[in-house]
Amino acid sequence: MKPPPFEYAAPTSVAEALELLAVHAQGEARVLAGGQSLVPLMNFRLAQPGHLVDLRRIEELTRIRAEGDTLVLGAMVRQSHAEHAPEVALLAPLLAEALGYVAHPPIRNSGTVGGSLAHADPAAELPAVALALGAELVVAGPQGTRTVPAADFFVGAFSTALEPGEILTEVRIPRRGGGHAFVEFTRTHGTFAIVGVASVIEVDGGGVTRASIALSGVDAVPVRAAAAERTLTGTVPDDATVRAAVDATVAELSPSADVHGSTETRIDIARATLRRGIELALTRAQDRR
Ligand SMILES: Cc1cc2nc3c(=O)[nH]c(=O)nc-3n(C[C@H](O)[C@H](O)[C@H](O)COP(=O)(O)OP(=O)(O)OC[C@H]3O[C@@H](n4cnc5c(N)ncnc54)[C@H](O)[C@@H]3O)c2cc1C
Repeated sequence: MKPPPFEYAAPTSVAEALELLAVHAQGEARVLAGGQSLVPLMNFRLAQPGHLVDLRRIEELTRIRAEGDTLVLGAMVRQSHAEHAPEVALLAPLLAEALGYVAHPPIRNSGTVGGSLAHADPAAELPAVALALGAELVVAGPQGTRTVPAADFFVGAFSTALEPGEILTEVRIPRRGGGHAFVEFTRTHGTFAIVGVASVIEVDGGGVTRASIALSGVDAVPVRAAAAERTLTGTVPDDATVRAAVDATVAELSPSADVHGSTETRIDIARATLRRGIELALTRAQDRR
């Protein structure tokens, strides 16, 4: 399968890339990152950009750094780079753990952190992680730079707050203490999960002081398990508390049926996966005390 013809440019700065997107706006210009989602879409002719603006030569977008307690990832950081980076292990171990579930190593060697977020697949791991960790996404456009909280970035299936002509440049993740867990249910390792759960739970003296939990695969966008967070916070959780937290969340879910299963199947899977995620994050939080 071959894509339809397109023009190609490989700028070396964000400013140059923005200019190319503006100049070729009428020709359906599109950004190319790792190509792991866009190229298959082009080959199937589900995407037909007239111009590809390849970000892979923009050095400034490939860096990982710590700014105090904030992890800062350039949008073009390869998934495999982030997975094994010491800064990520220290400041956002939830992200490192989740990256191990994204496809297979050869795909992670090309796929980028920013590409996964911008692609916004409802089944993808990284949007749920960004939501759970309260990440901020830095976006550059013709009018300058703006920062979008992850909670406002994902607006629908494969749809984000990015406007035409804008580029996601940076992902900023505040450090969180406590225990983290990324768990998912998938038919085979390396394929998109049916449901994923990203959790960070902080405890003090056995009691939960803060819980941040997000699910993928249960809606068009990643969703916060707000009812579970409320139920857990302020308790010294036992089995009944965890069950109540899971039940309260699942009661609010109404995932669409699809080829992978009915609404009821997805809810059952969400129930089991959420429970696993909460229990693992709690165990790790308690082990770290
Ligand atoms: C076999 C296979 C299995 C996979 N399994 C999984 C999986 O289990 N979980 C998972 O999460 N993903 C999976 N993926 C997708 C993979 O993670 C992709 O790498 C990711 O979705 C897209 O990242 P990319 O860098 O390749 O982006 P690209 O494919 O280059 O781009 C994707 C989209 O995002 C836009 N975009 C990219 N970067 C930016 C930016 N900086 N600013 C603005 N727009 C941008 C592009 O224009 C395009 O529309 C799989 C892919 C394959 C081929």
